[in-house]
Amino acid sequence: MDEARLARIAAANIAVALAVVAIKYMAYVLSGSVALFSDALESIVNVMTAAAAFAAIRLSAKPADSDHPFGHHKAEFLAAMFEGAMIAVAAVLILLKARTALIQGVRLEHSATGIALNILASVLNAAWAWLLIQRGKLWRSPALVADGQHLVTDVITSAGVVIGVALAMLSGWHILDPLIAAAVALNILWMGYQIAVQSMSRLLDQAASPEIEQRIREVIEANGGGALEAHDIRTRQAGRALFIEFHLVVPGSMSVDAAHVICDRLELAIEKAIDGSEVVIHVEPEHKAKPEESGAVPL
Ligand code: ZN
Ligand code: ZN
Repeated sequence: MDEARLARIAAANIAVALAVVAIKYMAYVLSGSVALFSDALESIVNVMTAAAAFAAIRLSAKPADSDHPFGHHKAEFLAAMFEGAMIAVAAVLILLKARTALIQGVRLEHSATGIALNILASVLNAAWAWLLIQRGKLWRSPALVADGQHLVTDVITSAGVVIGVALAMLSGWHILDPLIAAAVALNILWMGYQIAVQSMSRLLDQAASPEIEQRIREVIEANGGGALEAHDIRTRQAGRALFIEFHLVVPGSMSVDAAHVICDRLELAIEKAIDGSEVVIHVEPEHKAKPEESGAVPL
């Protein structure tokens, strides 16, 4: 997936999020509904995270340099951490507003217009989500698909909010409005918590998935002819880069030249099989071999 295309999508993401916020905020101002306010704030979070993702894509695409010799891939995780923090701020703002509304009482006005505007914004959001998921699948970008799926949950939240505000309006029970807002706040707080926990785990050098690790073992098995064993296979994910290292046991009498040929063959095969991977191999003589139970790959 090339960076220019990714950057274009990320820029469009910001524009759509801005348009959605503008419409949703107008819906709130017209109606005075705290629930519609909560929905607008959730979309402001989308604008900020879209901007952070845009910056992260540009930064992580920067090639490795002398002060960051492993590249800048982890910028994407920082953007996700930022997203988690922004979501928490939005949740607190909504809860404060809901509290004020509960204490001072709520008076909804022009709710029908507010609801109509909010639905318009959601239609825009849904269309964009559909496009993101489609492109994401086409370009095999899990990040884009995840973005689209996040927007789908936003559309569902908005639907809940609209139904709630309509009920509050029709029943005359306006207190429902801040209660719905509080429910939205708790929901996005939970989302923010999950995003923060996930990105922290990744920042702490999370390993590749078991499926990828299995694939690495298969490629080593298929291309390790001449060596005796591979062990201590370690992986760490950094954005779209995957760093892989392992020990390769060869006969102690083998020449450095011959061992190096095997290493280059393995590195090339793994880097070809696994997108974004970078491989480093440490060569050892046979008395360093480890039992198969320890996860060694016999060759
Ligand atoms: Zn070893
Ligand atoms: Zn070499």
